[in-house]
Amino acid sequence: MCMKIDKVPTPAYVVDEQALENNLRILQQVKEAAGCKILLAQKCFSMFAEYPLIGKYLDGATASGLYEARLGHEEMAGENHVFSPAYRPEEIEEIAAICDHVIFNSFSQLRRFGAKVKEIQQVRGIAHGIGLRINPECSTQEHAIYDPCAPGSRLGVTAEDFARAVEAEPQLWALLDGLHFHTLCEQNSDALAKTLQAVEQKFGCWLQKDNIHWLNMGGGHHITRADYDRQLLIDLVKAVKEKYAVEVYLEPGEAVALNAGYLVTEVLDTVKNHGANILLLDASAACHMPDVLEMPYRPPLKDSGEAGEKAYTYKLSSCTCLAGDIIGDYSFDREILPGDRLYFEDMAIYSMVKNNTFNGMALPAIWKMDDNGDCTLVKKFGYQDFKERLS
Ligand SMILES: *Cc1c(COP(=O)(O)O)cnc(C)c1O
Repeated sequence: MCMKIDKVPTPAYVVDEQALENNLRILQQVKEAAGCKILLAQKCFSMFAEYPLIGKYLDGATASGLYEARLGHEEMAGENHVFSPAYRPEEIEEIAAICDHVIFNSFSQLRRFGAKVKEIQQVRGIAHGIGLRINPECSTQEHAIYDPCAPGSRLGVTAEDFARAVEAEPQLWALLDGLHFHTLCEQNSDALAKTLQAVEQKFGCWLQKDNIHWLNMGGGHHITRADYDRQLLIDLVKAVKEKYAVEVYLEPGEAVALNAGYLVTEVLDTVKNHGANILLLDASAACHMPDVLEMPYRPPLKDSGEAGEKAYTYKLSSCTCLAGDIIGDYSFDREILPGDRLYFEDMAIYSMVKNNTFNGMALPAIWKMDDNGDCTLVKKFGYQDFKERLS
């Protein structure tokens, strides 16, 4: 099936391959200039139909656990990494068999599984595959739910605990081949500079040791955003590589597919309440773009303005039962009527990986659009997909 985006049945995610490839080219330039490796963080964007394209530019994928690791193993060329806050005993052998880097979140997980993973990786000929997530306790952002450095965080080992554990159990330290931190969210390279200062100050002595072969700087680097300072990123990576003689990995999610997709929706009805003009869409914040409610944020919408900016202002909502399933207030140059289509922008990331069928809402079909604007159906979903997840 092939058609222009204005004909695609709604609701639908339409991924713009040209925009995706532009992002990938930028990431490739950064990789080459900095001499680092870049992986796709699949939790952000797992549209595996695009993995062959992504694999042409990036070094592989990273996963949040067994299922994403399997997906990366099956669909993406290149390296396959995993970090999970905690692994299960029954899955660790499979993880070790398909992952090149297995990153632990604590010394207790390392104690429980490290030797086993190392043994399996050695049979596979992988020499430096065991890592530990560190927590530099350096908050650089305001979104509390995305701040792994906040006091009470479960994510990563603090410098104090690290030193204590190495002293008590040097055999665990001897298992480690690399360190990992992930502390950023939609940030520029100045935040990385500040974070690296904390990492060096608190963990520099460990990074210097001979058994540490790599440093993974996580995701949250908004590398493909127009105002991102890529030269600073390149300089920072090069400096770390040189100073500590380590390989550097970056694992962005958002930067890979930033501004590379639409959620296409149709207006099903309009209602009024206390002077508010409300549009009922066949797309839902709660089901199809949960970050809108979680983060929260106002997604960009094609040909629209802020409330009151253009002649016709509407509250955009959906047909779920949730009163708070509101996407935001937007204005338009013309009156919006049932049957009109709206195009939410930047909907490739954290959208299809997070959606759900609450209220029996339809899952948007997944389409890809080529550089001529021709859209091809990748996958569609129906009643069976809703029913299959229930019993
Ligand atoms: C979320 C996450 C990423 C990707 O983050 P983006 O903000 O999408 O770039 C990378 N690594 C880890 C460990 C993560 O939790």
